[in-house]
Amino acid sequence: MSEPLAPQYHPSAIEAPLYAWWEERGLFSPDAMAPGSLDRGSPYVVMMPPPNVTAELHMGHGLNITVQDVLVRFERMRGRKTLWLPGTDHAGIATQNVVERRLARDGLTRFDVGRDEFVRRVWTYVRETGATILDQLKALGCSADWSRTYFTLDDNLSAAVRECFVRLYQQGLVYRGHYIINWCPRCLTALSNEEAEKQEVDATIWHLRYPLADDGGHVTVATTRPETMLGDTAVAVHPADERYQRLIGRTVRLPVVDRPIPVIADEAVDPAFGSGAVKVTPAHDPADFEIGRRHGLPSIDVMTPEARISLAAPARFQGLDRYDARARVIAELDAAGLLEKVEPHRHAVGRCYRCDTAVEPRLSDQWFVRMEPLARPALAAYRNGALRFIPERRGDDYTQWLEGIRDWCISRQLWWGHRIPVWYCDAAGCGRTSVSRTDLGACPGCGGAVRQDDDVLDTWFSSWLVPFSSLGWPARTEDLRTYYPGHTLVSAPEILFFWVARMIMSGLQFMGEVPYTHIYLHGTVRDAQHRKMSKSLGNGIDPLGVIERYGADALRYSLVSGMSVGTDVVLDPDDLEGSFAAGRNFANKLWNAGRFILSSIDGPIRPLAGPHANVVRRDELTLADRWIIARCDATVRESTEAYERFRLNEAAASVYRFLWSDLADWYIEQIKPRLYGDLPGGEVALAVATRTFEVALRLLHPVMPFITETLWRRFPGRPPDASISLSPWPRPDPRAADQTTAGRFGLVQELIGSIRGIRAEYGVQPGHPVRAIVSQDRGRLSTAFAEERATIMRLAKVSDLTFGRSTERVGGHAVLSDGTAVFVPLGDAIDLGRECARLRSEIDRLEGLVQGQEEKLANPQFVSRAPVEVVDRERSKLAAWREQREVLVRKRELLGCG
Ligand SMILES: [Zn+2]
Ligand SMILES: [Zn+2]
Repeated sequence: MSEPLAPQYHPSAIEAPLYAWWEERGLFSPDAMAPGSLDRGSPYVVMMPPPNVTAELHMGHGLNITVQDVLVRFERMRGRKTLWLPGTDHAGIATQNVVERRLARDGLTRFDVGRDEFVRRVWTYVRETGATILDQLKALGCSADWSRTYFTLDDNLSAAVRECFVRLYQQGLVYRGHYIINWCPRCLTALSNEEAEKQEVDATIWHLRYPLADDGGHVTVATTRPETMLGDTAVAVHPADERYQRLIGRTVRLPVVDRPIPVIADEAVDPAFGSGAVKVTPAHDPADFEIGRRHGLPSIDVMTPEARISLAAPARFQGLDRYDARARVIAELDAAGLLEKVEPHRHAVGRCYRCDTAVEPRLSDQWFVRMEPLARPALAAYRNGALRFIPERRGDDYTQWLEGIRDWCISRQLWWGHRIPVWYCDAAGCGRTSVSRTDLGACPGCGGAVRQDDDVLDTWFSSWLVPFSSLGWPARTEDLRTYYPGHTLVSAPEILFFWVARMIMSGLQFMGEVPYTHIYLHGTVRDAQHRKMSKSLGNGIDPLGVIERYGADALRYSLVSGMSVGTDVVLDPDDLEGSFAAGRNFANKLWNAGRFILSSIDGPIRPLAGPHANVVRRDELTLADRWIIARCDATVRESTEAYERFRLNEAAASVYRFLWSDLADWYIEQIKPRLYGDLPGGEVALAVATRTFEVALRLLHPVMPFITETLWRRFPGRPPDASISLSPWPRPDPRAADQTTAGRFGLVQELIGSIRGIRAEYGVQPGHPVRAIVSQDRGRLSTAFAEERATIMRLAKVSDLTFGRSTERVGGHAVLSDGTAVFVPLGDAIDLGRECARLRSEIDRLEGLVQGQEEKLANPQFVSRAPVEVVDRERSKLAAWREQREVLVRKRELLGCG
């Protein structure tokens, strides 16, 4: 890699070829490290949240993958055997939905083609498109070990799912039950509680009158879903409710349906809700279902799977959609004078997380995991410190969810996924249910025919196993021994319960150890209005488009620098420049600095440390040299600590400051005359610049891998196959830390800054030299000024730098933080007459503004009528104008304008 760098930085020209080279070299495998040379400490293992196999790259992946890659590259350079394990998720509902939509284009449903053909078509689709998302991740620079890529429907992962199901069944932790579950009438499947996302909506509460059967009275019940009254089988009141004592045991006539139902007493009824009497619909509400069980009430299921009214309801309702049925029920009750009251009501409605349809509570036979026994150790692991959340507050969410955990409905009425490994025998006198690791051809009880359960398992029932199933479990593989448990899990907060918490449970249950010790939950990518980016809102930013235009490094830099621990990242889809230019500008700056340093090298570089004959001696270093070495060392400490503490934005900011300001703007500018031979010490300057730049490249590599590798490999003497990603992480150097140097060079910077400030303030032409007189009232003048005299004169364009007291009166003046005064005579640097006149007219303008404002604020009409904040604002304006006027008056005095 000795060819010179292109004059311009073009990310598209370097990124893709470099990624191909990394992959070819196998750098992302944990086995890539030279044995013995690195490999310190325990392996560092990160499980990538497997994207859905049908997914297309969005900014959420961009953020999630970037954070992981930064951590992985950091630990890899620290010499740990590092495994970042990627995979894809078969994503039951999501993938099935995509293929069903494709069928629908031909006017077909999955039932038209049949189960086997449908599954075959999904596989075809997955094989055609499956790798897309993974290739897209590569464009981000993702250093995952692709040689271990898994798919959750791979044979070994499917075997793990069966093993898990069978073991839990044998332990009594998996069971089949007849319960009310969340049902999606569009996807036609059961959902877990987590998959039915609760959303607050404005709804209505209807108060309905149910007439008593034996006299003219009635009882009023309140409901938010009046259509379910078609399936009511009782009215319930609290047993201690004084108002209803005389009604308990009596009968009401269910209106619309005209069916007699009893009034019962049950402790579960909340006397404060509505009238205190509630309708009981055991087939359509979980609480009612429990009441029905306790009282032996019939369950009448009045809805089809599609949420239409079933044959169990009166004929005129059959086939109606649930919302049409609601309107009709209300209309009939109203006509009969039985609608007592209608009130607005806010409550939470569950929606399918895949298609956003309102879920319907539905009574059905499903498979469940008993969660309480799994949650207990998961809670204990957190409480005894085996798990750490970053940010810490997420630990409360985790605790709360586990404490209130309910059983997990794991069966799905889908065709795409792991089919439930349960076989039923229908033979009379046998009827055995068999749960098996291997497919059954005959009933183990009677040898008769069996049929397998039609349903598949929740997608998350396979992904909660990946920390060990992806390593070969249940087989005891070498990988499993080496890489379980892992270390850090990096995830979006949205899947804390779906995935993160469940992996902890399964890890403890099957491996006896938590799958990772650190859980880093990053924020969400949002638009300028703080809305989550989504396809439906059309407010997303395509990461691939950004990479094409700005480069992956710029994208990564923007994401990392835009987030603090656990906070959201805000990017504006309407202002890509504002969101990503900072990263590209930084890369440009780096490129130019790199080109300058590398092109200055024309022979061997002297080492800064070590037992070499030509090592740079301490007494050869100038103040600037010692300062940049100390700054570099401080940056090593700061950024390393920030990476360790997941404060990636701080790590990036620390290296940015060093590279942009300290190295490029100050040090490189400082050493130019030495490098050009105008001043001595060129060799030393080049040694210092090369060394500190190289260290900074390594510190930045985790965030901006492409440009840092490209520049790093151009350093002279690199073996052709060396990669920065396996180079050792920089260590702090105790000899480099130098507080006095930092303070002394800081004064030099301050002095240069002050003179530049005076030049700008008085409009001195950029090329025009000025004189400067530096003096201090008390104590000795810092020797730093003498030592860096040439630097001060060149960088502040000073033709004559003197120390002492000024005898001149006309000029600009500033005081540094240590009390040093600097005076810049301006008589010969600017056109005094013009500057005086300019100041005069500016003072006159401010004078006018001040007067007008004073009159305005003296007007009692304005002050009493205008809102307080408006008056306050006007007062601040006045104060600011007065102050500006004073500053200019003083300036005129300094210039001796008279
Ligand atoms: Zn759905
Ligand atoms: Zn049998």
